[in-house]
Amino acid sequence: MQIPDIIIAIDGYSSTGKSSFAKIIANEFSFLYLDSGALYRGVTLFAVENGFINDQCDIDVSGLEKALENLDLHFGNGGTYIGDRCIEKEIRSLSIADKVSPIAAVPQVRAFVDKKLREFGKQKRIVMDGRDIGTTVFPDAELKLFMTATPEIRAQRRAAEMRAKGEDVRIEDVMKNLQERDYIDSHRETSPLTKADDAIVLDNSDMTMEEQMIWLKEIMAGRFGC
Ligand code: C5P
Repeated sequence: MQIPDIIIAIDGYSSTGKSSFAKIIANEFSFLYLDSGALYRGVTLFAVENGFINDQCDIDVSGLEKALENLDLHFGNGGTYIGDRCIEKEIRSLSIADKVSPIAAVPQVRAFVDKKLREFGKQKRIVMDGRDIGTTVFPDAELKLFMTATPEIRAQRRAAEMRAKGEDVRIEDVMKNLQERDYIDSHRETSPLTKADDAIVLDNSDMTMEEQMIWLKEIMAGRFGC
């Protein structure tokens, strides 16, 4: 199949399988996969470790803004890095997930991450997932998906994923975290999570990954003739 040079933007609620689907799409079409949430998680880890956010999620915005000027946060072979330190494991913990949405609501943080993300847009053939990719980061993306699934399914999937990585989590805590993040992400002032008018909704509550891929290929065939 000849896939055109396009950007695929995938947005949606937490733990709807965006990154799993995006990785498979990238693999199938030889696209570059970019996980925008990893950068928000990386800024959150940095903020926690440097005392810019406390346990009540009070944020020292001006201190953080200043420190971001020297933060070398980037993607590398092992995932997400600060300088040459791989932070991939730390940023996936529930303690970071608990603070990431307040951090991601800070406009200065969004500007810092957006700048990095838009650099990638100079090249095509990328698939990026997040909360505002189709609305803010790449509003001209040729294909936009908005993913959703029932809260129960999402919590089960996320808990299984975390347990597989060795984190001992309770489903109630995971569910609470997902609901809180969705609320903050959808209600913040800057680039709230919302479906772009031209995004296609994918509710994958009862779909396997294979079924999602078949669904996507039909859309690609209809839209791009490939
Ligand atoms: O995708 P993931 O769950 O790793 O994202 C973590 C958090 O980062 C989200 O809950 C959201 O607060 C923030 N985020 C965002 N905009 C994006 C991607 C992630 O605000 N484009």
